[in-house]
Amino acid sequence: MAVWDDLVGQDRVVEQLVAAARDADAYVTAAASGVEPELSGSAMTHAWLFTGPPGSGLSTAARAFAAALQCVSPDRALGGAPGCGFCDGCHTALIGTHADVEIVRTDRLSLGADVTRELVRRTQLSPSGGRWQVVVLEEAGRLTESAANVLLKTVEEPAPRTVWLLCAPSVEDVLPTIRSRCRHLVLRTPPVDAVADMLIRRDGIEPDVAATAARATQGHIDRARRLATDERARARRAAVLRIPTRIEQIGDALRAAQELIDAANEDAKESVEEVDAKETEEMRAALGASEGGRLPRGTAGVMKELEDRQKSRATRAKRDSLDLALVDLTAFYRDVLARQFGSPVAIANEDVRDAVERIATTTRPEQTLRRVEAVLECRRAIERNVAPLLAVEAMTVALRAG
Ligand SMILES: [Zn+2]
Repeated sequence: MAVWDDLVGQDRVVEQLVAAARDADAYVTAAASGVEPELSGSAMTHAWLFTGPPGSGLSTAARAFAAALQCVSPDRALGGAPGCGFCDGCHTALIGTHADVEIVRTDRLSLGADVTRELVRRTQLSPSGGRWQVVVLEEAGRLTESAANVLLKTVEEPAPRTVWLLCAPSVEDVLPTIRSRCRHLVLRTPPVDAVADMLIRRDGIEPDVAATAARATQGHIDRARRLATDERARARRAAVLRIPTRIEQIGDALRAAQELIDAANEDAKESVEEVDAKETEEMRAALGASEGGRLPRGTAGVMKELEDRQKSRATRAKRDSLDLALVDLTAFYRDVLARQFGSPVAIANEDVRDAVERIATTTRPEQTLRRVEAVLECRRAIERNVAPLLAVEAMTVALRAG
């Protein structure tokens, strides 16, 4: 299984990355034999920007490339492309334990200059495995301006074995000074069939479950997998999709809003709980906590910092799961609209076809458009830091009949 196998429907991107990994490998080989290598004119370069819609596999692509750069498979000597997926280099890079691959997935809403400075310092070191020093910034769109300025210097004059892999939803999310120095790769929304296929092949999911999940999430790989494998995710989605048919009075709307917020918070809590506990335990062990649980003097500050980070991750997780619920609602009304306009395209929410039909036949397209707009406005409001409950209430009130 090559490192690229988890990238769904991105043939062109994979082609470019394979070519780059080959040239990168030739560079390392040449350097090892004492020849002064040259990168300019090759398919390899020091800074890359991956853009694509959420769920298209940005971080999967960046990790696969990082792994291919660290591949030490003997097949390479026989003309095989780097990125076997099996060798120690590939394997450790993929699971995130390779010493020369730093994966930065920020839990904060922004990525500051302090973090970036530390990363830049790291990339000045020679790679311990003798290949490449790779930094993956999974959310380059969250770089603050001062962080971007710190990064800019190193992207302009990179250390010889340094590779920066930046991921962002679109080029507009990254400052022009940075993006102009990156080679840009665009991922597309993977086709629904390809996502279903991957769920069957890789995760061993039943074909009909895989197809429903892929269709409902419209090419968002992670969400499709979660929906196909996690009972709670299915229950939550079902609850969200009941909203359109049950809001009649203002009281229903306010109740639905509160339930939506509660469900999102519960979901977020479940998603961070395990990581938090593990992290805390590891930190306590690292600080040398005694059997009785007492921490050595002077370590309170470090623990406090960890708590703050966990708090900010929890906030972000709440926001993310609420946003997912809103995405589901948007998809629902889009189906209603398609039905009202008699579009022959298959609806995404096949599992709630009855509800889609009912609303499609009892309301007018203008109402549906207004409702889609209400959901989008709610997402924008939350993005602007309006209190989530207020934003959601405004939305559910607007979703009522009329
Ligand atoms: Zn390998």
